[in-house]
Amino acid sequence: MDRFDATMGLYLRSIANFVRLPSISAPDYPEKNLFKSAEWAARKLREVGFKVKILKEEGAHPSVYGEIMVDPNAPTVILYSHHDVQPAEEKDWKTDPFNTIVKQDRMYGRGAADDKAGFMANLAAVDCLRKAGKLRCNVIFFVEGEEEIGSPHLATLLRKMRPDIKADVALLTDAANVESGLPTDTTSTRGLHRLLVRVETAEHELHAGLWGGAVPDAYMALSHILSTLQHPNGAPRLDALKPPVMSEEVRKAVATVPFDEAGFRKAGGLKLNVPIWGDPDLSVNARLWRGYVLNVLAIEGPQTKIKKASGKIVPWAEALLELRVPPGGEVNEAAKQVEEAILGLREKMPWFDIKVSYPKAPIEPWEADLKHPIVGTLAKALSVGYGRETVFAGCGGGIGFLFAFNELFPGVPLIPIGIEDPDTRAHSANESLNIADFGGATRGLIAFLGMLGASVKRQ
Ligand SMILES: [Zn+2]
Repeated sequence: MDRFDATMGLYLRSIANFVRLPSISAPDYPEKNLFKSAEWAARKLREVGFKVKILKEEGAHPSVYGEIMVDPNAPTVILYSHHDVQPAEEKDWKTDPFNTIVKQDRMYGRGAADDKAGFMANLAAVDCLRKAGKLRCNVIFFVEGEEEIGSPHLATLLRKMRPDIKADVALLTDAANVESGLPTDTTSTRGLHRLLVRVETAEHELHAGLWGGAVPDAYMALSHILSTLQHPNGAPRLDALKPPVMSEEVRKAVATVPFDEAGFRKAGGLKLNVPIWGDPDLSVNARLWRGYVLNVLAIEGPQTKIKKASGKIVPWAEALLELRVPPGGEVNEAAKQVEEAILGLREKMPWFDIKVSYPKAPIEPWEADLKHPIVGTLAKALSVGYGRETVFAGCGGGIGFLFAFNELFPGVPLIPIGIEDPDTRAHSANESLNIADFGGATRGLIAFLGMLGASVKRQ
């Protein structure tokens, strides 16, 4: 750990170099940048002593696999991160997104936190232990190249890379701490499903002056339908979306995570009069991690541009709804209940033609086994790294790569850990890394790999 503290600046400089490669995985961006960043990561891994392979699948962006096997009888840890990033609209940034700048305690740049710092924390931990002659566990690196587009080939790649790996734990260094400086072990994610609601009121557009008053417009019709789904305080109206009962253990874990309302409001950019809303029977953390939510992602119809709108009655409209489902809930069942509630409105509003469809496959919620001893070991190690007690938090979003790991490594504890914090603005303009947290995470990883290496008797 002293070695890391003495050389942290070098690793930070490496993050800056990594950010300089604009490895955007979204469609319509040049794939050559992803090859460059995959090669960059591969070179870094080789320098640390990994055996490295760049993985390429038909139609997939390149990912990087690396391994250091110290002893077949030693425990094996998988360290996950990703080298691709989200696009960055330069006009929205205060600084050049691909040329990092350090201001106070933060490093600004696209991918500086999500997830090039995750890669570097994993790498620095192994590097420091190795140089100190203290690496006593086997390490598998997986650096994905398409996390930001939903990990479409992750399961295929994991299956191919080493089907015989017997891993003891997988650390997924691409999550967030609930506040800066507070080590956070993510133990649950919500699932999600999307519903497309379509309403039709006429065969074609009509002159609003001549027909308005006697023919309904589809935007109003859609608004009536949507307003039946949520209470004005933000809680879902449907009984089927009441939150599942939490176990005592989970309830306690959720209750120990601090919630800073002022910080939450600031990080979220909430307007002055906007309350923190949702189910009043749940704490805010529980609303985010253990409650259902139904949001409207987009509304579409024949005229959506206000400046170009003309005086006509809109005959059809669609809303894309997103339903988030907490652990303990059934994604398909919950979506079915929402669908039935919407279609049930045909009785109340028979004059509208209402349809519901599902444009995408659902994602299930996920929950870690809090009783697994390695979860406790990691919490202890992160506490050492950050100098603060680790908390067990949920994550309101889905984490796509968890499912591939779950499928390929059944029974292996998966632990997403943070390198981001509430001010990171991952995916948005002006993303930044909290430099102290990069230190805390890396020290925590060093402590964890040390504990893991010491934990298993050699045979
Ligand atoms: Zn990420």
